[in-house]
Amino acid sequence: MRIEFLGAAGEVTGSCYLIESRGTKFLIDCGMFQGGRDAHAKNLGAVRLDPRQIAFVVLSHAHIDHSGLIPRLVALGFRGRVYCTPATAALLQIMLPDSAHVQEAEAAWQNRRRHVSGKFARADAAPLYTVNQALLSLDHLEPVDYDRPFSPQPGLEFVFRDAGHILGSAIVECTIGAAPDRHRLVVSGDLGQPDRPLMRDPARIAHADVLLIESTYGNRLHKTLEETEAELVGAISETFARGGNVVIPAFAVGRTQEVVHVLAKLVRGGRLPDLTVFVDSPMATAASATTLRFARLLDDEARSIAEWMVHNRRRFNLRFTATVRDSMAINQVTGGAVIIAASGMCNAGRILHHLSQNLPRRQSSVVITGFQAQGTLGRRLVDGAREVNLFGERVPVKARLHTIGGLSAHADQAGLLAWLTGFRKAPRRTFVVHGERQNSIEFADAIRTKLRWTDVIVPSRGDAHDIGCA
Ligand SMILES: [Zn+2]
Repeated sequence: MRIEFLGAAGEVTGSCYLIESRGTKFLIDCGMFQGGRDAHAKNLGAVRLDPRQIAFVVLSHAHIDHSGLIPRLVALGFRGRVYCTPATAALLQIMLPDSAHVQEAEAAWQNRRRHVSGKFARADAAPLYTVNQALLSLDHLEPVDYDRPFSPQPGLEFVFRDAGHILGSAIVECTIGAAPDRHRLVVSGDLGQPDRPLMRDPARIAHADVLLIESTYGNRLHKTLEETEAELVGAISETFARGGNVVIPAFAVGRTQEVVHVLAKLVRGGRLPDLTVFVDSPMATAASATTLRFARLLDDEARSIAEWMVHNRRRFNLRFTATVRDSMAINQVTGGAVIIAASGMCNAGRILHHLSQNLPRRQSSVVITGFQAQGTLGRRLVDGAREVNLFGERVPVKARLHTIGGLSAHADQAGLLAWLTGFRKAPRRTFVVHGERQNSIEFADAIRTKLRWTDVIVPSRGDAHDIGCA
């Protein structure tokens, strides 16, 4: 077996692993690089080999940094199936066309800018893929439930296990060959933190010969859920006392539903006053509906809170804004509201309007709840920027910034190590992926010292490893 790390090696985005076994090539994940100046160039160069040579793709979950280059792969000639869970397939129906829309808008903006600046000599910017190409790629999705083995080709068997990260997220187990010459590759995908709101805990896996494990927070510990809730209550209460709004940038899929869930829980428990919460993202609105459709995948508490929300609309006034006009109307609300909008890293989307309205106001606050990759506006805010650039204008940062790490959709070091203890014996080789390099290196060290696993590697993008099996 040969593994080539095409992305998410020494960084958090662009998840894509090319596996070659017995003459068959397939991909696990086909994600987009996000954040940083070179992301676009990396995305353009990501599909280097002839996509017709790739037999199939197995997707761990719907987040764009794991799925976002599927339309490009299909547009460049891929003809196979893309296996994923049914909830992932439902989310991709929303996310891939949206991603294409963002690509098209970005290319159009680049071209306008070049036109204005007179740089005609440069080639026209083209989107990575169009909305039409994204829609066509959806025909390749092949939904398979958790815990149901499937075999795209003889000698290759896969199973999805619940990764507890977002709706439909999966750990991928791949068994190659038949006994006695059988080997198992396990790809953790993104792993959720145990006991987190909404999602179930990640499934434990007992056996792997080769393991790929994520390490987004491999060198850190999250605060407990109680501490996190107390921080959120503190941030919101202080902001409302000053007469401002609370702006929460959040991924439309996963984080938005989670934040809404925690806010509803805090209002139900009397820890927050009655609230008006705007979810200002068409994609988050659609994803919230999909979440309710797959409520059977959520944990018990999540289902009871969803029920409470239906019967307590006055106490918890949740408003989804569909049109741009509705979105603009939120600008009239100067205080006492929670505004949740995408993107989670503040690099695009309606959140930018709410930031431009609220960042210059001392009364307001911005609550950061998710990972902020290098090169994003969210990262600059977390790093304490006093001024940022929005829509070509300098905007002073006067609003208070709160970083609440405990809501992370990713397990922390303790959560990751606890998950690893589920393996009965150390895999022959463990690759630490999906983390900024230093985090991955520190997590690899933690695995070596705390679990006494010896063969632990932090690969770089483009590295290929031949593993002496199948
Ligand atoms: Zn993810």
